[in-house]
Order: sequence, then C-alpha cells, then structure tokens
Amino acid sequence: MAPPAHVTVVGASLAGMSLTQELRRLGYDGRVTVIGAEKTRAHYDRTQLSKDLLTGLAEPESLYLMTENEVADLSLDLRTGRRATKLRVVNGGKTVTIDDGTTVEADVVVIATGSSARRPPFPADLRGVHVLRTMEDALTVRTELVNATSIVVLGAGFIGCEVAASARALGRDVTLVDLQPAPMCTVLGPVVGDHFARLHRARGTVLELGTGVAGLTGDGHVTGVRLTDGRVLGADLVVIGFGGVPETRWLLGSGVEVDNGVVCDDAGRTSVAGVLALGDAAKWHSPRHGRPVRSEHWNHVGLQATVVAENIVAGTANTGGDTVSRLDALPSFWTDQFGSRTQLVGAPHPEDDVDIIAGAPGESGLVAVYSRDGRATAAVAVDAPRALVRHQALVADGAPWPRVDVDR
Ligand SMILES: Cc1cc2nc3c(=O)[nH]c(=O)nc-3n(C[C@H](O)[C@H](O)[C@H](O)COP(=O)(O)OP(=O)(O)OC[C@H]3O[C@@H](n4cnc5c(N)ncnc54)[C@H](O)[C@@H]3O)c2cc1C
Repeated sequence: MAPPAHVTVVGASLAGMSLTQELRRLGYDGRVTVIGAEKTRAHYDRTQLSKDLLTGLAEPESLYLMTENEVADLSLDLRTGRRATKLRVVNGGKTVTIDDGTTVEADVVVIATGSSARRPPFPADLRGVHVLRTMEDALTVRTELVNATSIVVLGAGFIGCEVAASARALGRDVTLVDLQPAPMCTVLGPVVGDHFARLHRARGTVLELGTGVAGLTGDGHVTGVRLTDGRVLGADLVVIGFGGVPETRWLLGSGVEVDNGVVCDDAGRTSVAGVLALGDAAKWHSPRHGRPVRSEHWNHVGLQATVVAENIVAGTANTGGDTVSRLDALPSFWTDQFGSRTQLVGAPHPEDDVDIIAGAPGESGLVAVYSRDGRATAAVAVDAPRALVRHQALVADGAPWPRVDVDR
C-alpha cells in the first residue's frame, strides 16, 4: 500500500519529534506538519527538569535533543507555540483546527500531546505554588528555590521525590507529603517504597506519609499546607506532584476513543482509521499484559515511534487490517534521587510479592524481584544496572519465581 501524502503530528515533544525523525530515517518523503504548544525551538529532555536543571547542574541549552539544523533537515512544516483545539473526521478526511484560527487537512493524524500536570482538588492559586511539567515550570521553581526556606512537596510519586531530592541537595528544608504509607508506593509497592523512605530520611527530607492535604494557607503568597489531620506545615514554596493527566481534551467530539488516554491497539491505531497516538497521551494494548497500558515513561516512546513510523511508511497505519509492525515491549523506567539511580523493568502491581535478593532498603545495590501467582512480573535495581540486565529476561519470560537456580 502507498504511504499517505500528508502526516500531521500534534505535539512536538519526545513522542512527536521522535516520530518525525523515524519517518525521515525510513525514507518517508511526504509532507509532515507538526503542531506544538510549547514555544521552545526544539524538544528537550523533560526528565532532567526535576533533576539537574533544578539543582543548576544543567542549563536549558544542554537539554535540547536536536540542534536547529537537525530540525531543519527534517523538512517539517513546524508550528510551535500553537495548540490544536479540535480534530474533525468527516468521511475519512481529517482536519485539525489550530488556536490561530487556521486548519490543517491530513491523510494521517498522529496524537502526541503527552500529559499535563494534575491540578489539586483544592484552590491553589497563590504565588509560590507550582506544578512541574515544562521547562518554564522548572525554571520558575529553580528561581524560587534560591530564596525559599521551607519547601513542601505534595505527592511522593517519582517527580515529587525527585523535586524533594533536588531541593535537599541545595540545602533547603523539605517536607514530602503523601497519602500513601511510603514514597513511590502506588507504582512500586510498600517494600521498595520503604527504600525511598529511608533514602530520603537519611538525607534530611521530612516525610509526612499517610496524610492527606486539605488545602493551602496564604494571602497572595503561600504560607503553609493544611493537612487533613488539622496540622499546618509552614511553606514559602509548594510544588505539586500529583501525576499527569493525558492531554486529550482537544479530541472531544472527534470520535477518537479516550479512556484515561487515547485507546490504541498494539500498533498505535485508535478507534478512527488514520488517526494514531503515542507517548504519554496514549494507552496502547499490551499483548504481554492482555490489556491497555499507558506508559508515562521515556524509554517506551522511542519504541512506539518506530512502530508508528513503520506502519505509516508501509501504508498500513490507515487501515483496521494487518500492520507491518507491532509493539510487545517490556515497560521500563528509571529515577535519579540523591545521586542514586533506581531502574525498573516490567509492570509491578503494588500487591505483588516482593523478594529482596540483594542489598537492603535505603542502600545502593538493592535488587528486588516482583512476582504474582509464582511468576516474575518486574525487577528493580538500585545502582545495579548489571543485576537489572540479569533479571530482565526472567521478567520478559514471566519465569517461575522464586527460583533457586538463577545467579542472583
Ligand atoms: C519532571 C519530569 C521528570 C521525568 N523524569 C523521568 C524519568 O526519570 N524517567 C522516565 O522514564 N520518564 C520520566 N519522565 C516522563 C517522560 O518525560 C515522558 O514519558 C515523556 O516526556 C513523554 O513524551 P510525550 O512526547 O509523550 O509527552 P510530553 O513530553 O508531555 O509532550 C507533549 C507535548 O505536546 C504538547 N501539547 C499538548 N497539547 C497540545 C495541543 N492540543 N496542541 C499542540 N501541542 C500540544 C505539549 O505542550 C508538549 O510539548 C519525566 C517527566 C517529567 C515531567
């Protein structure tokens, strides 16, 4: 089948730009339009926003993933600082409306709009209160960290934990608040969560766990965080890390099925022929897990970009039939806190059994294997990349666990 003549990509960050790079690498010479809401000249390494950019070890310039020449070489109709507001599909024809009032017609539309930071359920419109999703957010927090004395981070997921670690590294007083009994608990469960609790406490982060947030105090500028148990924590800088919400509002009325992310098959095809999705905004069917999975992590995006590009180039993206390429990859992610790197492969469930097979919580060298119904589901390694590689195959195969015959 012939490839489409015109591909329009909405979102010009990791997912959108990786896709355009893959398309050109595979020799696609059709028209490519890219619409990106952020004003930056190229996409950047978002993972460093809560890490080296916040501590000042990295500057914005070093985070850009492509030079201006590399972007130019892709021959894109690149419209940055512009937001898509609507997708219309009529008789197979697709039209994207942009917030400058213009429209773009396309044969294939790719949704790469990522996530936005989840807002809190209480009023938070005070100076000194921020989320952290974009370069702009991170630079604002970095500036305010200079004079802030008491920082409260709401939410001990991976971004909240990284922000807390970066602020501690700068010598600030930091309190990390979460409803869960341990940091990173929702994804990694209480055993590995305990590792992060120890890591943070050892470096002076105050943890308020099992505690909800009722609201903020302040008049113009934030002065504190009111907990559900009635206590108020003094704060002159509050960072909210309540996770991400897939950016899919602009798809309302388009016919594209959305269920906490754009619902896709294992090739990124949505419920509408010729409309695909990838990255944080998408929820791809995972043959491995037998259900849709929305991966909100860096490593997965490049793999998805290759699959989507291969199908576009082969002309199999626009149909409900066979595809030339599908994805069945093991999820993986990493987090860096206090100079320590934790890596995960697999999809743990907080209620999985966890077997610590090396090291101890709070220390480098910790290796843990998750299992369910006697089969390995995930592995976590702290500053132990070789151990992670050793256990990756077990997780990929869903090997029987615990096992006595493996080299731990
Ligand atoms: C602070 C931080 C730290 C992270 N650290 C790690 C880490 O250590 N390890 C890891 O594995 N992952 C990490 N991640 C996750 C990783 O960065 C994401 O998985 C990745 O950025 C997803 O890429 P994406 O292109 O799908 O989405 P995004 O990077 O969110 O990009 C989506 C883009 O689409 C644009 N957009 C949205 N709506 C519209 C619209 N209507 N029209 C036009 N453009 C639109 C947005 O402005 C944005 O530029 C981190 C994320 C954050 C925020």
